[in-house]
Amino acid sequence: MTAPLPSRDPLTPPLLDAQGRTMTYLRLSVTDRCNFRCTYCSPASWGGKKDLLTPEEFERIVSVFARMGIRRVRLTGGEPLIRPDILEVAQRIAAVPGVEWLAITTNASHLERLAVPLREAGVTQLNISLDTLSEDTFRRISKQGDFASTLRGIDAAAAAGYASLKLNTVAMSGVNDTEVAALIAYAHARGLTPRFIELMPFGQGTPVPTAELVKRLQDTGLSLVPDEAQRGPAAGPAQYWRAPGGLVGFISPLTQNFCGGCNRVRVASNGDLRSCLGGRAQAPLHTLIRGGATDSELALAIRQALGEKPEGHRFTEPGTRTALLSMMGIGG
Ligand code: SAM
Ligand code: SF4
Repeated sequence: MTAPLPSRDPLTPPLLDAQGRTMTYLRLSVTDRCNFRCTYCSPASWGGKKDLLTPEEFERIVSVFARMGIRRVRLTGGEPLIRPDILEVAQRIAAVPGVEWLAITTNASHLERLAVPLREAGVTQLNISLDTLSEDTFRRISKQGDFASTLRGIDAAAAAGYASLKLNTVAMSGVNDTEVAALIAYAHARGLTPRFIELMPFGQGTPVPTAELVKRLQDTGLSLVPDEAQRGPAAGPAQYWRAPGGLVGFISPLTQNFCGGCNRVRVASNGDLRSCLGGRAQAPLHTLIRGGATDSELALAIRQALGEKPEGHRFTEPGTRTALLSMMGIGG
């Protein structure tokens, strides 16, 4: 199904997809490079692109989206904090009129140095990825990462005064699935909300279904009560439960398809708009900008691409693993 194109100014909100969903949330991959290379994320052969967008080009793209109704922006990657100009990228985006909320997803390796400057640049939320509290397991998952600086980065973020901090863990059978209770305690002790993500088919590893993780936690005697206020499309893809130490989130792309309430648009690190995490390239925004496109022409290209946004991802269909683009380029 293709949405009819508007006859009015394409910059005027709302920004609708083919299913009539209003898009308010933009995820920008600011690089496809990473200093970790986690087993479940990095493709087997990977070469980072050199031709990344500049801070000015990010600002331009975000300002077009903001005029169309986008209010929340997340920077992701690859590892966003390895960009030497990440503070300028954040400052420029945070200052775009209409942007109410700027978040970053990071592996924490550079947070010891950057947690405070990023908050001062206008970043309001951090999602931090940590899969284990064991250095050996860390080394097994991310061959190039530094465990000690990651933990120091998390402590720096906890002390930096962010409005919201989340700790994201990809649960993998036989790798880190026995650490879930310890990770919950670790996160709550630092004021972070722990969340567990079902492994999607981008790399190696065996997923653990959310229902099984919840049951295992309850079997250990942990009280977990569904938190209805923190569920549903408005709360995002995570389903939250209340534990004695605070909330615990579960993101279940495989067993509870969250696409129905999707309000997200993605721009990959090469500047291509992707209408869906499980979809294909739809609008080459970087090429259009460098070709001198006006804001209205960019907005029209965005609307055309979103007219083809699918109803849901296709992770559970046979053959999906080979059809998907790299997680490093799209940014999760
Ligand atoms: N480098 C940053 C980080 O690790 O937080 C940001 C980019 S990373 C691609 C964003 C998120 O995607 C991380 O929380 C990571 O754990 C998650 N992720 C990567 N590969 C995944 C997969 N195959 N299944 C589920 N989540 C995945
Ligand atoms: Fe890098 Fe994040 Fe992917 Fe790990 S999950 S390889 S830290 S981009």
